[in-house]
Amino acid sequence: MSDIMELVITKNTGEMEFHQAVQEVIETVKPVLDRNPEYRQAAVLERITEPERIIIFRVPWMDDQGQVHVNRGFRVEMSSAIGPYKGGLRFHPSVTLSIMKFLAFEQVFKNALTTLAMGGGKGGADFNPKGKSDSEVMRFCQSFMAELFRHIGPNTDIPAGDIGVGAREIGYLFGMYKKLANEFTGVLTGKSLNWGGSLIRPEATGYGSVYFAAEMLATRNQTLEGKVCLVSGAGNVAQFTTEKILELGGKVVTLSDSSGYIYDEGGINEEKLAYVKRLKNSQRGRIEEYKEKYPNALYTKADLTLDHNPLWNHKAVCAFPSATENEINGNDAWNLVNNGVSLVSEGSNMPSTPEAIEIFIDNKLLFAPGKAANAGGVAVSGLEMAQNSMRLNWPKEEVDNRLKIIMKSIHKTCLDAAVDYGKPGNYLAGANIAGFVHVVDAMLDQGLI
Ligand code: NDP
Repeated sequence: MSDIMELVITKNTGEMEFHQAVQEVIETVKPVLDRNPEYRQAAVLERITEPERIIIFRVPWMDDQGQVHVNRGFRVEMSSAIGPYKGGLRFHPSVTLSIMKFLAFEQVFKNALTTLAMGGGKGGADFNPKGKSDSEVMRFCQSFMAELFRHIGPNTDIPAGDIGVGAREIGYLFGMYKKLANEFTGVLTGKSLNWGGSLIRPEATGYGSVYFAAEMLATRNQTLEGKVCLVSGAGNVAQFTTEKILELGGKVVTLSDSSGYIYDEGGINEEKLAYVKRLKNSQRGRIEEYKEKYPNALYTKADLTLDHNPLWNHKAVCAFPSATENEINGNDAWNLVNNGVSLVSEGSNMPSTPEAIEIFIDNKLLFAPGKAANAGGVAVSGLEMAQNSMRLNWPKEEVDNRLKIIMKSIHKTCLDAAVDYGKPGNYLAGANIAGFVHVVDAMLDQGLI
């Protein structure tokens, strides 16, 4: 183990997800440090793995029965080397400091790859919005913002959504920020269209992941037309990944939530997808209900005692993990390979374990790491910020076109960096190296701060 990894483990005891994210970057950027001794001299690894600032705070709120609850809120401001901190907020009971730090760390490199001026951050709370009334969610969001507002701002730190934080939560958070700060600014992205949001922002992460996949397939003279695809999740990223795959002629046969997954051999067409959107976004139902509506589909309950996830064990050509971290382990990776999957595009953040990634790379799959494949979301958040600053709205075609150009450019950047460092076709190495060089060059320009 490298000295720097030992240091990270010692200083961040027990933070497994953070260790995992750092380890992956450190391994892949070693050749960059060997070629540029000034980076080691300036201790860039020690600096980039230490958050610039972490805010942890109490979030008390009252439920509809008058009972008081206390959650823990976080904002990890990881790096402002190339712009104000930017990254989503996650509301999920599994949220810990380790999860926040891994997400913030990934975000730094992802944002650099977009070439937009955005540093990296992430935040959230161990609050579970599932089963809560709108009023309870509103009170929680208001209490959360009552502390967070003093740390963020349109030129300081601009949060957005993530797991459990969608249009409803962004609305409540924004309302409270506006009241406390007494100003209407673009302090959050993912806003609704009629008060400062951008067209294509809800679609951007899913669409971007599919645009990236299409670019990878083009390097082998292939398209998505007729390809069977496995998609996990049923939230924002999964829904719009499915939508774009359908538009490009592919066939999606799976979707999931934390309770289980559905397999629809006939394919999830536009009508079925519209049902899933209603089910998940307005009715806040479970994916299990899909089977009641479409009885030909199979529903399998999640079983955490299994050593693999059966969702990844179906014949397919492409896989789009779009739920959460570490959702594909080594056994799942072998199942994917043995079922004929030749492309994995990570819509979620760090969905593949290190073992799974090694299997994908050894078996020459087209493998796109999340920090490249899912960068479309934050890229369009950057475009939302630009539109807010100019106080105008671009049409849908313009935003979508810019998204396509950005995804194409990230794809090329990854490929070029991989070739430059002797790893042709390795998108993981390419993404880490290109993002890293962009950020550390900015750090060196700005001196030791
Ligand atoms: P949503 O909350 O909209 O959807 C998340 C989906 O994943 C839900 O179906 C949820 O099921 C499922 N899920 C969440 N946690 C688990 C778990 N522990 N096990 C199994 N399933 C789980 O979130 P998003 O679609 O926005 O985010 C999905 C992923 O994409 C995350 O990794 C996020 O960080 C990443 N991402 C999101 C971006 C965005 O713009 N939204 C941008 C870049 C990355 P259930 O309904 O049961 O909770």
